Amino acid sequence: MTAPILRRLDDLRATTAPWQRAGTRIGVVPTMGALHDGHLSLVAAAKAACEHVVVTIFVNPKQFNNAKDLENYPRTEESDARKLARFDVDALWVPDGDQMYPESFATNVSVAGLTDVMEGAHRPGHFDGVATVVAKLFTQTSATDAFFGEKDFQQLLVVRRMAADLDLPVTVHGCPTIRDIDGLALSSRNLLLSDRARTVAPRLHEEMQEIAEGLKGDRPFTSLQTAAITRLEKAGFTSVDYLDLRRQSDLSPAVDTRAPARLFAAATLAGVRLIDNMSI
Ligand code: AMP
Repeated sequence: MTAPILRRLDDLRATTAPWQRAGTRIGVVPTMGALHDGHLSLVAAAKAACEHVVVTIFVNPKQFNNAKDLENYPRTEESDARKLARFDVDALWVPDGDQMYPESFATNVSVAGLTDVMEGAHRPGHFDGVATVVAKLFTQTSATDAFFGEKDFQQLLVVRRMAADLDLPVTVHGCPTIRDIDGLALSSRNLLLSDRARTVAPRLHEEMQEIAEGLKGDRPFTSLQTAAITRLEKAGFTSVDYLDLRRQSDLSPAVDTRAPARLFAAATLAGVRLIDNMSI
């Protein structure tokens, strides 16, 4: 069944109030649209855990540090609604801009520490935008549960920290990264890759797997990292922003540690910035 598309806060509140009164679990799946199977896996997880599910679609200007990136971001609302039809979600929250950020809006939610590295370091203001909009989405939807992808692992940790620090009564669930058959992590930005760039893009994950193999063989991380960056640049990637091994708990450097670690990468290919991460 096609879910109603709600654009005004009054309509959203009228929809969720009876669910809240009945004490049911309300799952929220925040997205920026251009939905793919990665997003849909979160919707499936939400449907399995919650009586009611709200999918949000909002291309959040506050989390874009680059005006061109915001302008180029794919917007496919009609096909998004069609893709969601088979999940029988209860509502699509697609707020008008003034519902999210009225002219008088003056609040910023900022998470320290976790945001100093990787995406935080390379995209100034990005995580403030994320934390601010997610805090609003949680309260707007009266969510009890929220579903985020490990694809954006740093974001998942930032959202968890924010929800805990602000005492928001929301359980934040992390869901595994969904990949294309060639290993490329699904992403809305993949739509912006040319056919040629799309054939090269899986190299990012291949190089990460190569590093994972090397680490199993006790090879030093820094030499694996240097060799992978050289190969990525040769394949056509420009500006490899980072290829880091970090602790899963707090994102501190994880070289020479036995603590659970992840490998994180961000690199630009033909003007499209790709990110990925995997557990080591
Ligand atoms: P976005 O629309 O890119 O803001 O993503 C919305 C949510 O979908 C975030 O929680 C992402 O981490 C998640 N997501 C994006 N790509 C994937 C993927 N390939 N697998 C699983 N979750 C994903």
